[in-house]
Amino acid sequence: MNGMAKRALVTGGSGGIGAAICRQLGRTGHFVYVHANRNRAAADAVVADITAAGGAAEAVCFDVTDGSGTRAILETLIERAPVQILVNNAGIHEDAAFPGMSSAQWSRVVDVSINGFYNVTQPIVLPMIRTRWGRIINISSVTALAGNRGQVNYAAAKGALNSATRSLSLEVASRGITVNAVAPGIIATDMSSAVFDAATIAQLVPMKRAGSADEVASLVGYLASAEAGYITGQIISINGGMI
Ligand code: NDP
Repeated sequence: MNGMAKRALVTGGSGGIGAAICRQLGRTGHFVYVHANRNRAAADAVVADITAAGGAAEAVCFDVTDGSGTRAILETLIERAPVQILVNNAGIHEDAAFPGMSSAQWSRVVDVSINGFYNVTQPIVLPMIRTRWGRIINISSVTALAGNRGQVNYAAAKGALNSATRSLSLEVASRGITVNAVAPGIIATDMSSAVFDAATIAQLVPMKRAGSADEVASLVGYLASAEAGYITGQIISINGGMI
């Protein structure tokens, strides 16, 4: 590990974008907690990738909607050393036209994004503040900025995440901690391929292609770096020119 090496936690590290972010932070020399909810095997595979590349990582599993369970596990991690880079990336979408959207579809999406943000970030932030250095990066979406039919729940959840980003950044700015959101457009992962075909992507994206998880990970890696220390409270889009 280099002199700037930190402990990083990436929620949803078992997913497409989260795995790329974990590998990016691992390459930069950070110790990475690769988080999964149900798919521990995917997190273990990311840990194996990072260690094979000479980095250090460990898998952790919890459901971010379970506040007390999440807190209990985070406390055991923080006891070893504070987490100084937190990427809130876990997220789900359950699309439905609003008149037909069930209460469960509404609640599940909001629960993972916004209650998940609270459940993970709140236990981590005070130990982070005590170190006087930290990075919190929340993975939002173009949907929060532009809107999208069938995603009223997802837009509301990610919009709330953007607002939380801004307010938390003000609270911790004087402590050497930056808080930013990254708002991807259409990124090629399991989540997006279920929703968009190639023709739709060509129509929606000026660059006429989906972005890659690695492109998102590069941006997150930069925001996590020492060089990005003066960027805070921002919602940074990465969307091939969609908006
Ligand atoms: P994936 O579906 O590949 O990954 C989602 C991740 O979230 C998985 O690791 C999953 O864990 C985790 N997760 C889901 N529910 C919970 C829960 N209750 N508790 C803890 N973890 C949970 O999605 P992507 O990689 O595509 O997306 C990552 C982020 O990027 C999301 O926040 C998404 O909204 C956002 N995004 C994605 C875009 C895209 O085009 N792909 C565009 C814009 C934003 P597990 O599988 O282990 O259960």
